[in-house]
Amino acid sequence: MILKEFNKGWSNKFNTRLENLFKYFPDIELESVERYKGMLRVRFKALDNEVQDIVDSVAYKIERESARTCEFCGEYGRRKEEFLPEKMCVCWKCHALHGSGQIETQEKE
Ligand SMILES: [Zn+2]
Repeated sequence: MILKEFNKGWSNKFNTRLENLFKYFPDIELESVERYKGMLRVRFKALDNEVQDIVDSVAYKIERESARTCEFCGEYGRRKEEFLPEKMCVCWKCHALHGSGQIETQEKE
């Protein structure tokens, strides 16, 4: 699970797509995964430039999608920081639910 530290909206939507890259390119390495300005930023390291281009493109596409996907529920969201500990992409419902100043950034089941 690459996205275990993020909430379900993102992990359900993007985790498999990221893991699939290892199926097609077993030699790549996961370099970093972070929430950057409310977006999901994932970096892979490949052994050659062609593969690097492909994995960078997929990672970039997912980064752009994450910028409008609620990290909590996966619905359409926008990046906000009011009442949140850091900039996050949330829908209005989750923002109302979690934006109390004491956000639980990880939902446990
Ligand atoms: Zn939501």
